[in-house]
Amino acid sequence: MTNRRAVIAGGGIGGLACGLALALKGWKVEVLEQAPELAEVGAGIQISPNGMAVLDRLGVIPRIEDTLFEPEAIELRMGLSGRRVFRLPMKGYAQDRWGQRFVQIHRADLHTALLDALRAHPTARLRTNAKITGYVRERGGASVYLERADRVFGDVLIGADGVRSVIRDQMCGSDRARFTGQVAWRTVVPVDALGDDAPPPFGVIWAGRGKHAVTTRVRGGSHVNFVGIVEQDNWTEEGWSIPGSTQDALEDFGDWQPCLRAVLQASSGLFRWALFGRPTLATWCDGPVALLGDAAHPMLPSMAQGAVMALEDAVVLADALESEPDREVALKTYEARRKPRTSQMQERSLTNAHMFHRRTGLKQVATYAPMAIASRISAASIHRQQDWIYSYKT
Ligand SMILES: Cc1cc2nc3c(=O)[nH]c(=O)nc-3n(C[C@H](O)[C@H](O)[C@H](O)COP(=O)(O)OP(=O)(O)OC[C@H]3O[C@@H](n4cnc5c(N)ncnc54)[C@H](O)[C@@H]3O)c2cc1C
Repeated sequence: MTNRRAVIAGGGIGGLACGLALALKGWKVEVLEQAPELAEVGAGIQISPNGMAVLDRLGVIPRIEDTLFEPEAIELRMGLSGRRVFRLPMKGYAQDRWGQRFVQIHRADLHTALLDALRAHPTARLRTNAKITGYVRERGGASVYLERADRVFGDVLIGADGVRSVIRDQMCGSDRARFTGQVAWRTVVPVDALGDDAPPPFGVIWAGRGKHAVTTRVRGGSHVNFVGIVEQDNWTEEGWSIPGSTQDALEDFGDWQPCLRAVLQASSGLFRWALFGRPTLATWCDGPVALLGDAAHPMLPSMAQGAVMALEDAVVLADALESEPDREVALKTYEARRKPRTSQMQERSLTNAHMFHRRTGLKQVATYAPMAIASRISAASIHRQQDWIYSYKT
């Protein structure tokens, strides 16, 4: 194991997946997380077939199987009228076309599964209360400085410390994360609390002027996950995620479909989440140091691919280090393999957000009518457009 020590900054989905991928290849891994305890926000997440392929490779699927929800379909509907634009079959279809299921899961369930898998590995260790303040390249590798302790050395250092990454700031200069002009509402509500007003048990994107919402199911289908994305001029609150009031959420979505109103009214914990982004980077690497996940390529959630990209990064990075003994070359290879795809995903996420937020009736018709016609003639024509995303081989 000499010279195969990896330090990973950040114990989010990306950091844990990367730690696991490297541990499975025989690396000694130390994941350093600033939080006193590992906990994920109370929110759902969609994992498309390309993400499931990674979880399969990492052996994580048996740990999440009971919590997964596989929707029959993904639909695009108008938030105000409820009118359906298109419906894409998913259950069964995704497995046949892309080799894996399209699923919905609570973030905490995925996070716990990755954490348990990592902890089960004898060569992996997670340290909480370990806030990193910077790094230094030394002895053929890199050391991180911890706020409350000494340095920790790794032959490689992976910055998986999210959109406000300190590793990225040091590597690329502090360009500061920028408010994207979009704020997300998030809540999770038991289906039982909604009676007949529960949103349909599919993935539904509800589109409207300057905003959209997404409803999914998590915890095996027993809970509804709601995400509402609203354009807003500025973010003046302290922090990035703050508790929000039902009244404020109803101001944004109260006149939309009754099932959405019902979710907001039944919620016992609504959060508002400012969406921040950063410009595309010239490089993700500094010698033995590389960035991964949101630290490298934060994106709006409108493609539901941010966490999935972090999962893909993790296995591509581990493979690159496995097949190339020169670490710096290996990390450059990882960057070269991942950057075109993640940059494209960043752009498409922005495009999708605009597409869901058409502000005039004319623009809505011009955008959604061709989609509706195409999906009625052949859902496969829309599925084909997802092939580059869902068929990706790591
Ligand atoms: C509303 C919303 C909905 C979304 N839906 C989806 C979806 O359906 N599908 C999907 O694939 N993606 C989705 N995403 C995107 C996804 O959540 C992110 O892309 C993903 O969580 C990024 O993971 P990460 O590990 O790179 O970063 P993070 O999750 O941000 O983790 C970074 C970790 O690093 C730690 N850290 C930070 N700084 C330090 C430091 N200095 N020292 C030590 N530790 C540090 C943090 O505490 C954190 O634990 C969504 C995002 C939003 C906002």
